[in-house]
Amino acid sequence: MKRWLVLVVLCAGSAALGDDLERARRIHKKAIGIDSHIDTLQWVIYQDADLSKRNSVYHVDFPRLREGGMLAPYFALYVPTYYPGSEPVRRVLQLRDAMQRLLDANPDKIELAYNASDILRIHKAGRIAALLTIESGHAIADDLGVLRMFYRLGVRSMTLAHFRNNNWADSSTDEPRHNGLTEFGKEVVREMNRLGMIVDISHVSDKAFYDTLSVTTKPVIASHSSCRALSDFPRNMSDDMLRALARNGGVIGINFGGGFLSQKDADGYKKRIASRGALKPSGAGPQLDSFAKEEFVSGYLKMTPTAATLEDAVAHIDHVVKVAGIDHVGIGSDFDGISSVPAGLEDTSKMPYLTAALLKRGYKEADLKKILGGNHLRVLRAVTGK
Ligand SMILES: [Zn+2]
Repeated sequence: MKRWLVLVVLCAGSAALGDDLERARRIHKKAIGIDSHIDTLQWVIYQDADLSKRNSVYHVDFPRLREGGMLAPYFALYVPTYYPGSEPVRRVLQLRDAMQRLLDANPDKIELAYNASDILRIHKAGRIAALLTIESGHAIADDLGVLRMFYRLGVRSMTLAHFRNNNWADSSTDEPRHNGLTEFGKEVVREMNRLGMIVDISHVSDKAFYDTLSVTTKPVIASHSSCRALSDFPRNMSDDMLRALARNGGVIGINFGGGFLSQKDADGYKKRIASRGALKPSGAGPQLDSFAKEEFVSGYLKMTPTAATLEDAVAHIDHVVKVAGIDHVGIGSDFDGISSVPAGLEDTSKMPYLTAALLKRGYKEADLKKILGGNHLRVLRAVTGK
């Protein structure tokens, strides 16, 4: 191709993207972006991250949430599965305290949301609406009273398991121990339904997912999972699971981690999960916390290279739309908790590029509003009743 022709083609391409990006930014101004899983609170507790200022170390801060239009993120209170007995209860309280400090220091920028109406009100007032989710179910220390108190502290969602099985739910990355959910596990689901807390099935085994659906009377979410048809990885959902999720009225938030999006990265990620899942530190209290800090910081501060790109994220969204329908897909980036990020989607500020790519595929504004947050808002309203 002649050099001038290459230049014309390139210019035409970037002009087209420029138009879509412009439209995407306009849509983000009107839409309420809900990201159903970010791990940024880990950086607040470990490195005292000041989220009110833009930084280049983590994936999320207030200025970049604003730039990307994701103004209602679910902050995960994440406790590693190696916290034994009732140690996770202490850990959740510490994380909740870190969240409170963040809220108290920035009353003009961020406010805790307890339901869908809160999100609309806080968004209208120009603040970030923060939601709280617990990762994972072992944090209730097998006690429904603890679950109820977490609800009172503002927690509105919880993943039932994490990398390892707990006493009542099987994990997707462990050997099955309970054949899904135990009777108590089903009790947890019923109590979450009754309280108005979203049951999050990311991380549970397939059988535990179907057990959950057989018990729940409310829609559930997979807060940070992607599609197994595109990356065959146990943390992702099969097409049959996606269809079952749609029948339940639920939503899957697409996870942007390299192994979730790209088959090329899935095996490497499986190995990393197996080694993290096998960790068995001794000790309790501060000793355990400093082990967790070391493990988290060394695992996530430097990103590992990935084959995944923004186009893979688009393909996963497209796949859910084809298999389950437009009403059942959302965003669950897992930012600040993934060890690799796709090219073109390196942090939350890049979201308009994803929206522009979806516009290019023919998605309409109404569809995009559902994907960016409308579907998650619907589930939250259905579960909390407000
Ligand atoms: Zn997770």
